[in-house]
Amino acid sequence: MTQRSSAQTPITLTGIAASPGVVIGEVFRIHDQLDIPRHPIRPEQVDSEIHRLDDAMAHVQRDLSAIRSRILLDAHRKDADIFQVHIMMLDDPMFTDRIRQDMETRYINAEAAVADIGDEFIRAFSASENVHLREKSVDLKDLVQQIIFVLTGQERVDLSNLDTEVIVLAHDLTPSDTALMRKNGILAFATELGTRISHTAILARSLGIPAVVGLGSEMAKAETGDVVIIDGTHGYVILHPNAETIQQYQTEQEKYHAVEVELASLRDTEVQTRDGQRIEIAANIEFHEEVELIQKHGAKGIGLYRTEYFFMNQDHLPSEDELFESYRYVVERVSPEVTIIRTLDLGGDKLAPYLRLPRSSHSLMGLRAIRLCLKHPDIFLTQLRAILRASAYGNAKIMFPMISGLDELREAKWFVEIAQAELTQRGIPFNPEIEIGIMIELPSAAIIADLLAKEADFFSIGTNDLIQYSLAVDRRNEETLSLYEPLHPAVLRLTQSVVQVAHDAGIDVSLCGEMAGDPVFSLLLIGMGLTKLSMSPPVIPEIKKVISSISLKEAQSLIAEIMKLPTAGEIEVYIWKEAVERFPELMNWV
Ligand code: PEP
Ligand code: MG
Repeated sequence: MTQRSSAQTPITLTGIAASPGVVIGEVFRIHDQLDIPRHPIRPEQVDSEIHRLDDAMAHVQRDLSAIRSRILLDAHRKDADIFQVHIMMLDDPMFTDRIRQDMETRYINAEAAVADIGDEFIRAFSASENVHLREKSVDLKDLVQQIIFVLTGQERVDLSNLDTEVIVLAHDLTPSDTALMRKNGILAFATELGTRISHTAILARSLGIPAVVGLGSEMAKAETGDVVIIDGTHGYVILHPNAETIQQYQTEQEKYHAVEVELASLRDTEVQTRDGQRIEIAANIEFHEEVELIQKHGAKGIGLYRTEYFFMNQDHLPSEDELFESYRYVVERVSPEVTIIRTLDLGGDKLAPYLRLPRSSHSLMGLRAIRLCLKHPDIFLTQLRAILRASAYGNAKIMFPMISGLDELREAKWFVEIAQAELTQRGIPFNPEIEIGIMIELPSAAIIADLLAKEADFFSIGTNDLIQYSLAVDRRNEETLSLYEPLHPAVLRLTQSVVQVAHDAGIDVSLCGEMAGDPVFSLLLIGMGLTKLSMSPPVIPEIKKVISSISLKEAQSLIAEIMKLPTAGEIEVYIWKEAVERFPELMNWV
C-alpha cells in the first residue's frame, strides 16, 4: 500500500500491544466528548433561541416515538418502556421550562442551557434515595445528549456504517463498538484507555484487528485524515510518519505476513511436546461466523463460546429460534469436536443496552453473569433450551460463568432440568446426557474446587477473572495494570491446585483465560499438568509451535522451581533467565 508521508515530525507513542499486526492507514478519529458550544446571546435573540430549542426537542420527540412504536410493533413491550422516561421528561414543564428560564435569565445559548440544567437534574436524580430515580439519571443523560446532538447538528458515530478502510482512534471503545468493527473495513484501532485483558482487546485479537490500547492523552494529536502506523505487535503508534518510517514498517508488515504463512503450515498438525505429551488446543470465539477462523487456524474444537456477544449486538432480546440457529451453525460445523457453549456472561463492560440492566450489573462485583441469569429465568431458560436443541446436532457442552459456590451451580443445573422438561413436553430432541461444566474464575470456586468437582462434569479455568478477583484489580483499568499479575504466587497456586483437584476427581480441566495464548505462560500451564488450552484463534499456530519445541519434563521442573519463589517479580526474573538457557526456541516468540 502506498501512503502519503507527513511533512510533520513523526511522533512515536508507546501503549499496550493489544492485538498483533502492523497497519499503515488513515485515521478516523472518534470524539466521544460532545462539543457543547457556549456563548452569550442578546436579549432580543432569546425568542429565536427558544424557538430553536423547541424545534430540537420536537425533533428528538419524533425520533423517540418512532423507535418506541417500532419496538412495540415487534412486541418488545419492556424494551419500549425504556424510552418512556425520555419522552416523559420532554413533556415535563419542570424540566423544559427550567431550560427556557435559564436562557431568559442568563442570556445563554440553547446548548449551554440544556447541558447545565440537564446536569442539575442528573445530579439530583443520582443523589436521590429513590432507586428508581437513580436509575433514570442514565436515561436523562442520554436525552440531554440527544437534544444537544440535534441542536449542534453533530452526528453520533456509527461504527457499523464507516465505509472506508480506516484506523479508528478513540478515547475508549466498548466491546460492542469492537464487535461492530468486524462488519466493515476497520483496519486497526488505538485507544487512550484500556488494557490487554479488557474484553475490547480480547475481541480485537479474536477478530484479528491489530490494536494498541492504553496510549494516554498524547493520542489526541492525531486527527481524521492523518496517516498513522499501528504496530499492534509491539504496542507502538506512530503519528505523522515520514517516508523512511513508512518504508521501515512496510518491511515489518512483510515479515509479519511471512511468519503468518510459516505458522499456517502447522494448521493441521496435532500438538505434542518433544517428549510426547499430547496437548489439545481449542478456540475461544464470540460470534458464530468465527467458526471459519477456527478451521483456518487449526483449533481442536471450541473451548469457550462467549455467547453474550450475540445479545450485545442486537437491538432486541434474541428469540429461542434465533439462538438455536446460531448455536446449531457452530455445533454442526465443529462436530465431532466439542463446542463448549458458555451461558450468558453479561454485565460489567459487556452490556446489551435494550436490556436496561440494573446499575449493579455494570459493576464487576454486581448482578452479572450467572447471577443475572438466575434472577431472570425467562432469559436463562430461553438460552438453555436453544443450547439443548443445538446439542441434538453435534457435540455440545454447557458451561456456566462466574460460579461462586455449590448453591449457584445447583440452581443453574436445576434450570437445565426445567429446560429439558419443557423440550420433552414439546417433543423437541436434545442430548439428555449433555455435560455441564463451570468456569473456575472466582477465588471462592478455586478454593472449593473439590466440592464443585463432585457436581460439575468439567472445569475451565478463567484466569482473566481469577487474577482480577483474587488480586482485587480491575482488569480494564490501565492505571492499576502493574498490579494485575498473572505470575502472582496466589494466582499460580490457585491455578495449580484447581488442576490437581480436577485430576484427582477424574474430571476434565482446561484453561481458557488469556494466559493460555501467551508463549511463556502456556509453558508454565503445561508444567502444571494442563493438557487442554483454549485461546483466540489467531494465536493458536504460534502456541502450537512453542509447545512442540519444549519438553514436558523441562516445563515441570521449571514450574517446581517457580512455585518456591515468593513474588511475581522474582518469578519473572527467574523465568527469563531460565527461558534463555533452557528454552532457547521460546525466545523467538517472546
Ligand atoms: C476469563 O475470565 O478468564 C474468561 C475466559 O472469561 P472472560 O474473559 O469472558 O471473562
Ligand atoms: Mg471471565
